[in-house]
Amino acid sequence: MNVEVSASLREAASAVKLQSAPPEIARIGVIGAGQMGNGIAHVAALAGLPVMMLDVKAEALEKALAVMSRNMDRQVNRTLITAEDKVDAMARITTSTDYAAFGDADLVIEAATEKEEVKRAIFRTLVPHLKQSCLLASNTSSISITRLGANTDRPEKFIGMHFMNPVPVMKLVEIIRGIATDEPTFQAVHALAHKLGKTTAVAEDFPAFIVNRILVPMINEAVYALYEGVGSVTAIDTSMRLGANHPMGPLELADFIGLDTCLSIMQVLYEGLSDSKYRPCPLLVKYVEAGWLGRKTGRGFYDYGQTPPRPTR
Ligand code: NAD
Repeated sequence: MNVEVSASLREAASAVKLQSAPPEIARIGVIGAGQMGNGIAHVAALAGLPVMMLDVKAEALEKALAVMSRNMDRQVNRTLITAEDKVDAMARITTSTDYAAFGDADLVIEAATEKEEVKRAIFRTLVPHLKQSCLLASNTSSISITRLGANTDRPEKFIGMHFMNPVPVMKLVEIIRGIATDEPTFQAVHALAHKLGKTTAVAEDFPAFIVNRILVPMINEAVYALYEGVGSVTAIDTSMRLGANHPMGPLELADFIGLDTCLSIMQVLYEGLSDSKYRPCPLLVKYVEAGWLGRKTGRGFYDYGQTPPRPTR
């Protein structure tokens, strides 16, 4: 082989290598400043990454900053972080209601309301503001990553990054590849999850992935047990805490997750798998219709205006 040919082969090989090297994630964007968005911003900022957080509601952003500050205080009190770590991390978080703020992000993680049309609209608005190399992730609990990715200009750079609630405490991140997701995107997001101190599990892109495919039908069954009068709220939660050694009863857990989110996940399972065993319990639907969404609205299967919280049935 002559010198010129071997040099151009080397160049081609290094170009391929460059193309396939995972992109560096140095700046993160988070969309949705609810319980998950603020948790994701919290762990990213503590890991040293600048974070831009956006919500449709300016008051949600203010609330998220206050929640993160309180949650970090708790970590300082438990000597998990220092007071200086907290000050540095809070200084890394900026907020905006303008998508132009994501212009320099390397990865934007969407953690808005669990409704496909909401998420699709967000990605449609977002992509014109991004640099070409920016990766996209959704924290969806159940919606198809392939479908969400196909709705963007970069399905190969689109991935599921499913954090657990509360994010600063829970160790797991499920990583879900859409059918078009490329290997560098997977590697970059996988490395980021580890940088945030998390353990990863890889799930295939089927409705609700692994954790919620198993967990949320159990919660729905607990609501059926309540609906059919098999047991009271207290009896059902006590049974599963002490009888199955679960740290929280299923109804208490449903309130913690948010009943709207639980219902959306059941609807995705029901429609996505066309199996009647996933039909959402009518009582769960009724609670959501009433706006009794659990802890975040102060009332769900328990009333959080009382101490200790009192069952609402
Ligand atoms: P949440 O209701 O606490 O927060 C949702 C936030 O999204 C709100 O602040 C809302 O103002 C904002 N939002 C709504 N529409 C928006 C839009 N168009 N643009 C920007 N922001 C918008 O919900 P959450 O519990 O934080 O859930 C968020 C996502 O995380 C959902 O996809 C959910 O399935 C997923 N998730 C939730 C849990 C859980 O336990 N709650 C766990 C893992 C994943």
